[in-house]
Amino acid sequence: MLNRLSLIYDIARIVNPAKCVVLQCGEDGMVHEAASCYGFWGKQTRCRHCSSSCAMAAAHNMEKDEVREGRICHILSAPVDVEQADGSVYSCVMEMVSSNVRSEEMRVMRDRELIQLLVAKMGDVRRGVVCFNIEDECVYANPEVFQLFQVPQGELALLKEFFRTWVDDSRMEESGDIALLSDAEWKQECNLGKRTRLCDVGYHKLFDGEGRFSGYFYEIYDDSMPLRTGLPLEEESFLDPLTELMPRERFFQTVGEVLRCAVHPEYVLIASNIKDFKFVNSLFGKEKGDEILMLLGGLYRELAGSKGVAGRLHGDKFVLFMPRDAFQPNEIMERVTEITTRFDNSSFKLCVHLGVYEIVDVSLPVSLMCDRANLAIETIQNVRVNQIAVYKDTLLKKALHDSEILSSFASALENHEFEVYLQPQIARDSTLCGAEALVRWNHPTRGLLMPGQFIPLLENAGLIYQLDAYMWGAAASLISAWKNTPMAELPLSVNISARDTFYIDIYQTITTYVEKLGIDPAKLHLEITETALMSDRVQYNTLIDKFRERGFVVEIDDFGSGYSSLAMLKDIHADILKLDLGFLMPSKEDERGALILKSVIDMAKTLGMITITEGVEHEEQVKLLTKLGTDAFQGFYFDRPMPVQNFVEKYYGAGCIERNA
Ligand code: C2E
Ligand code: CA
Ligand code: CA
Repeated sequence: MLNRLSLIYDIARIVNPAKCVVLQCGEDGMVHEAASCYGFWGKQTRCRHCSSSCAMAAAHNMEKDEVREGRICHILSAPVDVEQADGSVYSCVMEMVSSNVRSEEMRVMRDRELIQLLVAKMGDVRRGVVCFNIEDECVYANPEVFQLFQVPQGELALLKEFFRTWVDDSRMEESGDIALLSDAEWKQECNLGKRTRLCDVGYHKLFDGEGRFSGYFYEIYDDSMPLRTGLPLEEESFLDPLTELMPRERFFQTVGEVLRCAVHPEYVLIASNIKDFKFVNSLFGKEKGDEILMLLGGLYRELAGSKGVAGRLHGDKFVLFMPRDAFQPNEIMERVTEITTRFDNSSFKLCVHLGVYEIVDVSLPVSLMCDRANLAIETIQNVRVNQIAVYKDTLLKKALHDSEILSSFASALENHEFEVYLQPQIARDSTLCGAEALVRWNHPTRGLLMPGQFIPLLENAGLIYQLDAYMWGAAASLISAWKNTPMAELPLSVNISARDTFYIDIYQTITTYVEKLGIDPAKLHLEITETALMSDRVQYNTLIDKFRERGFVVEIDDFGSGYSSLAMLKDIHADILKLDLGFLMPSKEDERGALILKSVIDMAKTLGMITITEGVEHEEQVKLLTKLGTDAFQGFYFDRPMPVQNFVEKYYGAGCIERNA
């Protein structure tokens, strides 16, 4: 029968949808399981919307369309019982597939029909809705979804990218079989900026008039969405007792009302944050902390006047909403500074950061306007004086980009997407004397990423120690693999970030690698930046002494980038000093730079340290530095950082790779 059906359909086959296998009738008259059935659709795992599963469960025929190699395939799944030679019955599904060439117009038409189906099903429910067609393309999302994920309205491709990495489909399986279910619901977190929200997510399939699977959609319900947010005004009519400002929900609701009713809605929303407020209570006492909050609250109430609104979201986070023409940034900063200077003392400088969002899209939920004002604050989070910053759309793009980079970090480590590049260090006599291990990220979608594109993010997120530990392990493994090869004597330098000591015991982590791999610690050079050393001289002094006693070589990295470089040299006992030309001699003709370099090199020599000059790009620099007495060089003049294999081939000849492999 299958053979006959093959004449009518492009494909006719029987499958067991529970096991995802194609079945074959053997000469013995029995049914045998063959290859996986999803392979035919070019998939690696079972299909999300398997019509044969549905047909089997429902015990009647099911139809659906699927796209394969640019063709729309119509699949008819019919449950059948096959009687086997031994009299037993094998229940399975007959799949009959016929395909049409897909045209662009056809696709557009289908997507339109799909959206109509969606609208008919949704009615006027107000919540986030995002809809996909059978090709898993995002065809529609309502404004609430764009707002929730802070994606510019209408940017479906961007939204899809973001949504796909966010939505946790695996939760579906917890609520049932994903291939069978038309409905599944679960809860999942949404992290945007610093706020975490718990969203209810619903998954639903859409079927057309003939019962054909046509696409699917997700409903997302988040607390901050309109209509579902607001408690009735009466329930929240109180003010924050300390500052007499509106509390969070009340502020959101009032501002929303003002914007809805305004004829010319030209307003700004200003977020205020006290830098390191957590230290204020412990340094000054809780009463002083409260006094600061009351004073600032009073100021914002006054600035809001009768046409604006001031609120306290929580802790030291205030918000001020006011007409754009009443907004005078200089005046606000002066008034804030009047308050903060009253609390300055020698050990602490009270500092307030303001972020401004100029309200352009009045339909945006007020909570998201606050998020945008806070994004502006994040750009000045390292500034230690009172400062104001204005939100720009690029900040949102950057925030999305950053959050995507951070969320792909864990899997990137697991998948070995980080690669060691080596940059040679060349001695005065032009021989190779070492190499620095520098990280590169082979990102699956963004290509090769340089450290500057992800290290600062990982540092801020407290994740850098994981990458550093990975790199130390990778360098130690290279040293171990190079035993008994021409590279056996080559030392490798690794970087230690100032933040690593916050999270792990660096000494233990590194010595564990060395012991496990049985390598000579003198081959692993540890680079600690001057700025890290300055941040906690006592702690690093002890650590460096411990490392050196154990036989490691310690290098001071980026010397010349800090404020008190020379003073530091006398306290820290390191083996190697890395001078960075970028800091010490910004221009080629810098005579003063040359003098400073000379005195630093002389001083390092007196203290018994070896000097490596980094950032060497020109021959004249090499000549000058050789004259000044530097011991080794690292820089583009000699070579850029390169993959390990290229490094070994270039400096030791191609044979080494084979010998080593
Ligand atoms: P770094 O430790 O000072 O490393 C030297 C950087 O200077 C490298 O940049 C190198 O490519 C660059 N460089 C070398 N010679 C020249 C030159 O002649 N001219 C110029 N303009 N640049 C030169 P890269 O690889 O982009 O790394 C940048 C920084 O990222 C490193 O600076 C280091 O601070 C950090 N980094 C790299 N890998 C790691 C790592 O595994 N862990 C940590 N914590 N930081 C790392
Ligand atoms: Ca370095
Ligand atoms: Ca450096």
